[in-house]
Amino acid sequence: MSPQNTSVLIIYTGGTIGMIQNAETGALETFNFEHLHTHIPELQKSYCRIDTIQFEPPIDSSDMEPDAWRKIVKIISDNYDQYNGFVILHGTDTMAYTASALSFMLENLAKPVILTGSQLPISVLRTDGKENLMTSIEIATAQNPDGTPVVPEVCILFENHLMRGNRTTKLNAENFNAFRSFNYPVLADAGIHIKYKYGAIHKPENDLPLEPHYLLDTRIAVLKLFPGIHENVVAATLAIEGLRAVVLETYGSGNAPRRKWLLRLLHEASKRGIVIVNVSQCCAGTVEMERYETGYHLLQSGIVSGYDSTTESAVTKLMFLLGHGYSPEKIRELMKQSIAGEITIPES
Ligand code: ASP
Repeated sequence: MSPQNTSVLIIYTGGTIGMIQNAETGALETFNFEHLHTHIPELQKSYCRIDTIQFEPPIDSSDMEPDAWRKIVKIISDNYDQYNGFVILHGTDTMAYTASALSFMLENLAKPVILTGSQLPISVLRTDGKENLMTSIEIATAQNPDGTPVVPEVCILFENHLMRGNRTTKLNAENFNAFRSFNYPVLADAGIHIKYKYGAIHKPENDLPLEPHYLLDTRIAVLKLFPGIHENVVAATLAIEGLRAVVLETYGSGNAPRRKWLLRLLHEASKRGIVIVNVSQCCAGTVEMERYETGYHLLQSGIVSGYDSTTESAVTKLMFLLGHGYSPEKIRELMKQSIAGEITIPES
């Protein structure tokens, strides 16, 4: 239960949670936010003040774009002082991208921003949406004994886990437990009680004011390696006009075939100023390019380690850094540093 005199702003962007079934086609369609109030009368009973803002029209998260992230950042920034926390209702498909982007765009965040959604619409009897929403509200208003928020981070709450947003990936299109944070511990387990893992939760190091960022550069490609990948596929990707960065999804601990053409193409692209970040296709574990000869060659080609980053986090971090107009060298340096708890730097 949220403490009294707390307040939360719910930002409804769309997604299954607020959808209903079209009577004719049977397909799920977005619906007006009033729908949520009708199906969760408990919202009225909550101790805390709950206000809502909805995207007009609400969107399926497959249509999510950086402009919508800017819109969310603007809403949070304009309302930052008025609320204890923020809950963003969002489709699950791209929720991990949005959570990652927001973690970079909301610099000095000191309040909870909890993204949640559902696998079944809120109007369906077995819906997971009701529980996810009520738990998110509780987490967004949870306070330490000194009145500071318990979770001052961008997080995803799904089913019974609270996770750092930029560490999550959607891994299941069927089960209620749709998200996982493979490389960072959960921030809370939500069962009968919400058990916070205080040691894993980020604490703001200063009390600087929130600094919202809006500049993003999307001239990025994701290139996934597979056995038999053609030289011209890699060459065409790296030759895309205006391309500024590539997330290279490699094997295991950051390994790639030792083909001469591949290393040459990657090396030449790096020299032209394209930032290439090595992220593993494995969900868990970290890139260690020094470990195998197949990774070592990549290192020699000027490729930067993404360590244990998710692809979602690497893509949005690159958008954020490129948007700031930093040089390729500076971006390579910043990709190897954690700026919002998104990577674990191995101890040397
Ligand atoms: N396609 C929907 C969306 O991401 C799925 C969901 O809400 O879970 O908006």
